[in-house]
Amino acid sequence: MLGVVLESSAYSNIPCPLFYQSLTQYGSSMSREQLVVERARRAFQTGMSKPLKFRVHQLKNLHRFITERRKDIADAVKKDLNKTEHSTELFETLGLEGEIDVAVERLAEWAAPRPVEKSLLTILDEVYIQPEPLGVVLIIGAWNYPWAVTLQPLVAAIAAGNAAVVKPSEVSSHSAKVMEELLPLYLDKELYPVVCGGVSETQELLRQRFDHIFYTGNSTVGKLVMEAAARHLTPVTLELGGKSPCYIDKDVDLRVACRRITWGKFVNCGQTCIAPDYILCEPSIQDRVVEEIRKCITEFYTDDPKTFEDYGRIINQRHFQRVMSLLEGSTVAIGGDSDQSQCYIAPTVLKDVTGGSKVMQEEIFGPLLPIVTVSGVDEAIQFINEREKPLALYVFSPDNKVKTIEVKSKVIAETSSGALVANDCLVHFTVSALPFGGVGNSGIGRYHSQHGFDQLSHLRACLIKKLNLEDANAMRYPPHTAKKLDHSTGQINRP
Ligand code: NAD
Repeated sequence: MLGVVLESSAYSNIPCPLFYQSLTQYGSSMSREQLVVERARRAFQTGMSKPLKFRVHQLKNLHRFITERRKDIADAVKKDLNKTEHSTELFETLGLEGEIDVAVERLAEWAAPRPVEKSLLTILDEVYIQPEPLGVVLIIGAWNYPWAVTLQPLVAAIAAGNAAVVKPSEVSSHSAKVMEELLPLYLDKELYPVVCGGVSETQELLRQRFDHIFYTGNSTVGKLVMEAAARHLTPVTLELGGKSPCYIDKDVDLRVACRRITWGKFVNCGQTCIAPDYILCEPSIQDRVVEEIRKCITEFYTDDPKTFEDYGRIINQRHFQRVMSLLEGSTVAIGGDSDQSQCYIAPTVLKDVTGGSKVMQEEIFGPLLPIVTVSGVDEAIQFINEREKPLALYVFSPDNKVKTIEVKSKVIAETSSGALVANDCLVHFTVSALPFGGVGNSGIGRYHSQHGFDQLSHLRACLIKKLNLEDANAMRYPPHTAKKLDHSTGQINRP
């Protein structure tokens, strides 16, 4: 029965289940990834993921997984990134739990038909948008927040009624292993399988046909993902990175501004996609900015961040060497020391950096904070606009001043970025009502809360007419005469 459905469907290039069963029985040439995707599709086609009750049940199971396995998750993140248990709770699991809670509470509302405005021609009809599941979604996660960036898209996928193949990053290997071992104990195994592996496994997954691909990671691989998706005309969400600028107005309260910037930059050892990548400010405040940041580093991480338990590590040797090489040619104002054996790099501030410096050529994704001086907000805007559109843009300027309004609104009006935050860093990620995503080189699409639900749904246009009220002389029916098109009478014929 299912085989017939498959053969006659758009997926007829996939072997039908009976054929597939015989293949698995007698030794198959199908790859593990092919089998997993095929199984997820079969499970999706049974319709089991669609009822709201089922979706809520799975979401609650996901919540239970996070609370019951908090220690396993924290231990894995400690091994991957040297984060403390509390830090993992704050930056990984709390947000996830919040996303699940919102989805459980609002799912019925999100999934309900959405009536739209009717025209004169459809006044007697039912006209609405019906969100419907897309099918099988591939979620490819990144390593820097291995739980948040992999499971938050899964919340959206489950809420929207899809099946989802989850591919955690192999770089955060401890987290990936725990996810692979424990998640299937809580979620439906067929609908939401976890596939571990490296580049070749991801590439094999990308050869399969999906109904949506949700990728988090760097833009270079993002392009490969999009290329692979194009072969099947599969839509993509690309949550990418880039250099997020931070402009500091000279009249701002530098103590508060630098405190928030220091936190946003050095948390997770600078390995945060929305971390302020570099500072733009006038030369007259550069030294004060350095001194304020110095104070905050000592306050947050002590005089010896290397021995402080709440200061992270670079994920691996490759990234350690990459980040260290970015120091080349720059003046170190704070920090600069490192220990390769521990993948440790001190919180580091670089001053008098220019746009041509090595550290300004790529996303830093590590604890280096360059300061580039500009003559004012106009030059800052020009500097930002000469580069790729950032994932986040931060502007610090005083409250309650006419000039402030000008600075903030000027930056908002004259630049573009995935998000803009004034007088803080990172916190927009926690506002689930805001769409999270990039623009241009920093990404395609968005998620969080209903934005994620909509992203992984098809918003189907529905127009339900009745068979009565048939007008034999309606404008649409031939012959198309001048009389039918004549509006001068003030009468509009139904088409
Ligand atoms: P990564 O190395 O873990 O790669 C991400 C995924 O891509 C992995 O699952 C990996 O298996 C797969 N992959 C790697 N190379 C591949 C290839 N050649 N072909 C197919 N698949 C491949 O993560 P990363 O890219 O180092 O992550 C860091 C980047 O991600 C930064 O740029 C950061 O800004 C960005 N990021 C963005 C967000 C966001 O929400 N926008 C969140 C986290 C990280």
